[in-house]
Amino acid sequence: MARYVVTGGAGFIGSHLVERLLAEGNDVVALDNLLTGDAENVALLAQYDGLKFEEVDVSQPYGVAETDYVLHVASPASPVDFERLPFEIMAVNSEGTRLAAEAALARGARFLFASTSEVYGDPEVHPQGEDYWGHVNPAGPRAVYDESKRFGEALVAAYRRYRGLDARVVRIFNTYGPRMRPADGRLIPNLISQALAGEPLTVYGDGTQTRSFCYVDDMVDGILALLHSDVTEPVNVGNPEEMTVLAMAELVREAVDGSLEIVFQPLPVDDPRRRRPDITRATELLGWAPRVPVAEGLAKTIAWFREKAGA
Ligand code: UDP
Repeated sequence: MARYVVTGGAGFIGSHLVERLLAEGNDVVALDNLLTGDAENVALLAQYDGLKFEEVDVSQPYGVAETDYVLHVASPASPVDFERLPFEIMAVNSEGTRLAAEAALARGARFLFASTSEVYGDPEVHPQGEDYWGHVNPAGPRAVYDESKRFGEALVAAYRRYRGLDARVVRIFNTYGPRMRPADGRLIPNLISQALAGEPLTVYGDGTQTRSFCYVDDMVDGILALLHSDVTEPVNVGNPEEMTVLAMAELVREAVDGSLEIVFQPLPVDDPRRRRPDITRATELLGWAPRVPVAEGLAKTIAWFREKAGA
């Protein structure tokens, strides 16, 4: 049993992490300003004694009690948010990362930074291993996220090298599951929300671009395996099962209503062409690999969206 601080604890991945930690009997302080997080995610966890929720903006100074771990998971992460919340995203990944790292240092706690596959940009190397430095447009619309996560990684590496911070960096690839916001704007919540409403499914571009989707329970397993390891270099966590965006739309259509139309809309600027994690490092150093097949993860996610829509 240990004490954890989780920034972004009301968010999608954050709340699943918090739930797992509470279920294991730990004490958790979840911090969130509810910008893209959801108070309902915290309310769901009220059954656990060990939870304390504080509504704070972690890009501004805040107090942290004694703790063993600080997990900095707060950040809007949908491309729709890149246009809506550009300055908030850059703040939480730069100053927010600095403040969380300082809090961990002050408490002698281990620190984890949630980085992203977006550090690889529109990759010229496939699949993406951690040694690839990436291909990011620093002036494009995705830069607010990509570059601030890259800066966050640089900051954490400097804290580790020069200040002795006990730090871990996870590069999170596309993740899906219950508690994604239905209006999140990302592919899977869009497709499921559209399908359940009987609306056409939107595919951007010709749908031949690829992604590799990881179910959130696998993601939580991977993040915690890294946290509790002695691996200080960045580690990819994601599911290497790659598919086209069109194939994902077809999967959701089959699962909900085979008669739904698929409509093609313009491809967003700088949309990465291909993405697939090389998870050799996670497999060899952490003994981690994803376990949930996409059909099973999708079925669980659709069931949750259905329940939420009916509630
Ligand atoms: N996409 C799509 N239809 C949608 C939403 C997204 O075809 O309604 C595409 C998007 O252009 C990208 C892929 O799905 O190629 C994954 O997009 P998402 O926003 O989920 O995350 P990304 O991996 O781009 O950050």
